Amino acid sequence: MALRRIMVTGGCGFIGSALCRHLVGAGHDVLNLDKLTYAGNPASLRDIGNSPRYQFAQVDICDGDSVSAQIQHFQPDQIVHLAAESHVDRSIVGAGAFIETNIVGTFSMLQAARGYWDKLPGERRDAFRFLHVSTDEVYGSLGENGLFTEATAYDPSSPYSASKAASDHLVTAWTRTYGFPGLISNCSNNYGPYHFPEKLIPLVILNALHGKPLPVYGKGDNIRDWLFVEDHARALDVIATEGRVGEKYNVGGRNERRNIDVVQTICRILDRLRPGAKPHEELITYVTDRPGHDQRYAIDATKLETELGWRAEETFETGIEKTVSWYLDNEWWWRPLRDKVYAGERLGLLKQA
Ligand code: NAD
Repeated sequence: MALRRIMVTGGCGFIGSALCRHLVGAGHDVLNLDKLTYAGNPASLRDIGNSPRYQFAQVDICDGDSVSAQIQHFQPDQIVHLAAESHVDRSIVGAGAFIETNIVGTFSMLQAARGYWDKLPGERRDAFRFLHVSTDEVYGSLGENGLFTEATAYDPSSPYSASKAASDHLVTAWTRTYGFPGLISNCSNNYGPYHFPEKLIPLVILNALHGKPLPVYGKGDNIRDWLFVEDHARALDVIATEGRVGEKYNVGGRNERRNIDVVQTICRILDRLRPGAKPHEELITYVTDRPGHDQRYAIDATKLETELGWRAEETFETGIEKTVSWYLDNEWWWRPLRDKVYAGERLGLLKQA
């Protein structure tokens, strides 16, 4: 596959940093645009920070002029748009930033990218792609059976998922109205290294290590479909390069787990790797359920698997083992962030992903 110039937005976040590491590792040139909100962490790019193939610009995606200037300067072949406010609990406490970044910011990205694409010469114009990275949460909640397909109607429950749904609709409108070469991916819950410690899996690992309660919403029977973040990064690369313009692709690992099973699995791994006086499971504490908490998400990724040949490489068992080990080995990365999370908790801002 030819080497490309790829602009990534939100590349200092959890998934964006995995994508930047993947793309630079494959020899592509990457420009990462990130505002560096609380969720953006340049330390996640330590492995590629000195590469001549990697550039960074601190930019708010809502600032259309700055985005346009960066696009003109970098001349990308592709834009992969991940920058977003991403934490459901934060969206319930304060939706404003989600509306601003996820909706207005996506509009600003589309306008800037379209202005650039419109003026590209023939072949480069035909090859240009804009991949908008979204979530399975736009589909709402499933009952006991069934899977989300690309044809499932949107039915978002939280301010976060509603803002992502709105941004998906903008991308579709730009492809239909202007012939803009946009694509959308809708992915299930990610986990893996460099995940901000307010989200369920890193929160549980780090609380367990510190002997703190492991908060589980409701009865812990909400079901999520988990995907290892490096599998997602590979999927985004494949979709941006080989996906069909105007199409949506669901991305998932066929790894449905109840939240309580996720927490118990982490406890069992820690009992083995860091045995304490008591089993870690004794730290599990059930807390009042999140309002509007969707019961079950499950992705049908058949289209991505059959059309583009992508497959998740990690099962939940192999991926979670790697993830727990990574947190045990990389305290330098999570220690400063964990202190921030606890400051947030004291303000009553955070509970759990
Ligand atoms: P994250 O919160 O870890 O990272 C978001 C990044 O965007 C941060 O680096 C932040 O600084 C940056 N950012 C926020 N507002 C910005 C702005 N106005 N301008 C520029 N940069 C800004 O998020 P994540 O978990 O890596 O998710 C990335 C994308 O993938 C999001 O669009 C999210 O909706 C989507 N997604 C996430 C998951 C998941 O499980 N985490 C699953 C499916 C889809």
